[in-house]
Amino acid sequence: MEYEAIIGLEIHVELQTRSKIFCGCSTAFGAEPNTNCCPGCLGLPGTLPVLNRRAVEYAVLAALALNCQVQEKSVFARKNYFYPDLPKAYQISQDEQPLAWGGYLEIDFPEGSRRVNLERVHLEEEAGKLIHAGDSIISAAYSLVDYNRAGVPLLEIVTAPELYSGREARLFLQELRTLLRYIGVSDVKMEEGSLRCDANISLRPVGTKELGTRAEVKNLNSFRAVEQALNYEAERQAMILARGGEIIQSTCHWDDSRKATVVMRLKEGTADYRYFPEPDLPPLILERSSIEALKERLPELPRQRRRRLQEQYDLTAEEAAVMTDSCEMADFFEKAAASYPDYRNLVNWVLGDLIYQLREAGKEVAQLSPALLIELLELFDAGEINRPVAKELLAEMIRSGASPRQMVRQRGLGKISGREELAPLVEQVIAENPDAVENYRKGKKKALAFLVGKVMALTRGRADPQELNRLFEEKI
Ligand SMILES: [Zn+2]
Repeated sequence: MEYEAIIGLEIHVELQTRSKIFCGCSTAFGAEPNTNCCPGCLGLPGTLPVLNRRAVEYAVLAALALNCQVQEKSVFARKNYFYPDLPKAYQISQDEQPLAWGGYLEIDFPEGSRRVNLERVHLEEEAGKLIHAGDSIISAAYSLVDYNRAGVPLLEIVTAPELYSGREARLFLQELRTLLRYIGVSDVKMEEGSLRCDANISLRPVGTKELGTRAEVKNLNSFRAVEQALNYEAERQAMILARGGEIIQSTCHWDDSRKATVVMRLKEGTADYRYFPEPDLPPLILERSSIEALKERLPELPRQRRRRLQEQYDLTAEEAAVMTDSCEMADFFEKAAASYPDYRNLVNWVLGDLIYQLREAGKEVAQLSPALLIELLELFDAGEINRPVAKELLAEMIRSGASPRQMVRQRGLGKISGREELAPLVEQVIAENPDAVENYRKGKKKALAFLVGKVMALTRGRADPQELNRLFEEKI
């Protein structure tokens, strides 16, 4: 029998507010443990939560960008469970009346575009972070807890079970990350945990509708892990079913070093969180007009922008995808394109050397002025500098923000194409390389490139190669 995998994702996104959701403590990542804490985030008695307005705005923006129905009234609820990372022994979350219902994200899968529906989006608070330490052989194993993260605003996004492979789950998550970064509500860094994903996966015979018994895969913290873990789990379940076995509902995690899912616990009935409305917070009431005002603030979303750029500037789908990977990159390109009509050339420079050099220098595109790149391209197009010099100037421009035109003037980097300047160098190279000269005379074309290369080295790449070719041909 043939099976298909049915996958639903539960995604947690840390919102990038400056302070936590219910107190004024900083949300800065990487601070000394337990330094961004107050009695409120430590769960001490007598403290009261105060809702962070910005966290609500960000959550509504995200819900609107995801096409959800944002509710005018939502209710915070206590989710009770006992775990050391949760000092109050309950998490303030939302249960029966979440911030938003429904919604969808349109994904361009390789097989075609498809809408992946969402079930709900709600706001809650982060728990603290446990750090497991110690060595069970030499000394007792123990855990440390850092409450800096406790109370960071968290958005939970739950998809319908409408993804059918590890790859689809990865593509969905990548599109979601791009979207959330675009609208500026989260830095969505999986490596820092500000975007995390749990997945439910079950198998069913192809052509049937009923869902099989599912496994829950926890804490997938990279795109690769999402894809590999879900493909592995689909295969594992298929093998059990093929042998006539039965899937037992379980919770597991992905062991990246063993490339396998590991069962953490088998299901012991539904967890009972004894939800009840949070007595210390009133219901969250949003005026329709303020929801509409937030909608106005949404920028052009990445998928729309990708399609528009593709048409307007004649980009391939891949080029448009890289160009719109961040709002800043797309802005940079469009600003540059406004004053430089040769889009093709611009695209090649941006997608090739520019992105490479930015990565090398550890810089963001937002730190660079599009006008400087245009200045560089104009110098190159006018023949004032050659390609190696242009690349060198690009790197320098990214590092220091210096003007390419000024650098050319100050350092005498202009192209050398004058015969009177090049001729002595050509003669010198001919004298120093009699073998290559001989080979060229015998008809070996490659020898010419070798000789030209020698002059290029002497001029540190500034000589005009076409002029050199002519000179060598004349003199040999
Ligand atoms: Zn606090």
